[in-house]
Amino acid sequence: MEGLMMDYQLTIDRILEHAYRMHPHKQVTTKLPGGTMHRYSYADLYHRVKRLANVLGALGIESGDRVGTFAWNSFQHLELYFAVPCTAAVCHTLNIRLSPELLAYVVNHAEDKAVFIDAAVLPVFEQAADQIGCVEHYVLFNVDSGVQTKLPNVSFYEDLMAQAFEDYEWSGMDEKAAMGLCYTSGTTGNPKGVLYSHRSVYLHTMGISHANAFALSEQDVVMPAVPMYHAMAWGLPYACAFAGADMVLPGQYLKPSDLAQMIADQKVTVPAGVPTLWSGLYEELKTKPRDTSHIRTLAVGGAAMPRPLIQAYETELHVNVMQGWGMTETSPVGTLLNLQSHHSAILEHAQWDIKAKQGYPLAGVEMRIVDETGELLPWDGVAMGELQVRGPWVANSYYKVKPSPEHFTTDGWFRTGDVAVISTDGCMQIVDRAKDLVKSGGEWISSLEIENALLDHPKVREAAVIAIPDERWIERPLAVVVLDSDAGAVTEEELVLHLDSKFPKFWLPDKISFVDEIPKTSVGKLDKKSLRHRYTGDPWR
Ligand code: AMP
Repeated sequence: MEGLMMDYQLTIDRILEHAYRMHPHKQVTTKLPGGTMHRYSYADLYHRVKRLANVLGALGIESGDRVGTFAWNSFQHLELYFAVPCTAAVCHTLNIRLSPELLAYVVNHAEDKAVFIDAAVLPVFEQAADQIGCVEHYVLFNVDSGVQTKLPNVSFYEDLMAQAFEDYEWSGMDEKAAMGLCYTSGTTGNPKGVLYSHRSVYLHTMGISHANAFALSEQDVVMPAVPMYHAMAWGLPYACAFAGADMVLPGQYLKPSDLAQMIADQKVTVPAGVPTLWSGLYEELKTKPRDTSHIRTLAVGGAAMPRPLIQAYETELHVNVMQGWGMTETSPVGTLLNLQSHHSAILEHAQWDIKAKQGYPLAGVEMRIVDETGELLPWDGVAMGELQVRGPWVANSYYKVKPSPEHFTTDGWFRTGDVAVISTDGCMQIVDRAKDLVKSGGEWISSLEIENALLDHPKVREAAVIAIPDERWIERPLAVVVLDSDAGAVTEEELVLHLDSKFPKFWLPDKISFVDEIPKTSVGKLDKKSLRHRYTGDPWR
């Protein structure tokens, strides 16, 4: 119709072109294997992405083909993040912590035609190689050419890049076509693939950069410590390029001391990662302080950030913490917690309670909670139900799977499997994963709330609560606790007493098991499946 806006395609090349035109001198810094820092500009990135586009063509990658990446966060991974979608292929980020069986499963399921591998994790990939049938080319980087490997059809990234032309015209992209593929971490059964489109990622990029979200600008130095193999590193690589923010990519160096040093040396303004990383960083900074004065927001998500840790960061280290909630299926960011103007009058103590919530939906994401029969529940801060979301960057099916009512409602909402309450002002708080709730004598107990309260105890470092079978009550909570190394003796009774004033009697764990370590999933979350297996013999109960 005449008078309408342009039909402007929302494709990834436009994000890259913008970074090149407007922010050519902004920097991407990578900590390489061996510890040296590699640094180049967005202009360098741009030219190398064009070369890489030619490399992909020479390998026979065609529109719609899946290209796997198996790598830490690095500039080469970033080049793939752009070159693969900009040649109309699909960038399939493979989780380097999957078991060989699951890794082979996702490569075969996606039918990856080529896989680009960071040599630092080559031995991990090699363990799965025998079970993989579809890959025609393996390309290695961060290694000298000619290295021995049991993989077939291997070539070397820098050799291919050196031979490739730098001229390349972007073409063949459609905003509705797939550009990225990421599998869920497979905590319940086989991983499921989520296909991102150019359009969904473009809109997600704008959504997370918004002032009510991460408020990214060219003044930022963003350090995605969240892996690029998990949920597109929260979309930060694309958002940084669009905003012109510098990027710091930590490679394999995720130890608290490494992260602390990078934050100080690179003057990082937005470090982003899961709570386990930040609890380690806090311990590190307490024992060996570093300059954290450039941090404007410590972004955290992927699992609940314990309230005591938020409070400790803010009061002891003067670091502002922003929690977010999301899923692979939501690209991933769904909600973020920025305090709002009506919070200015509340007491500091109450602020921590709010900051421990998962937050407000990004502009563009809708959410609702429903009861077991699918009836809508009110936003009153009390009613608790399944969280459902919809929006332009929310999945409407899994890759190669017919949408089922188990995951997608008939009226167009995605069922998250999380249980939440929503306050009158629209602030969402995750109560639990539906499968992690403990149902004792017909009443729900939130494992997350007990974990938070346990972490409030000065001697508790980590806590996980799971359901164990009980003859009378069907299920009862069991707490698994890691104490601080210098905590000395703490008894079960002392911890139960600590919880006593906070919860109804029936919430108190019947047993507390002290352990040296709580197992973590491939993306660094508490691995409750493995705990359930250890304590009940049944990972799924
Ligand atoms: P994944 O797709 O692996 O990123 O896992 C998504 C799941 O992580 C969500 O469904 C939540 O159960 C959990 N999750 C993500 N962010 C948070 C958060 N801030 N607080 C609590 N749980 C979270």
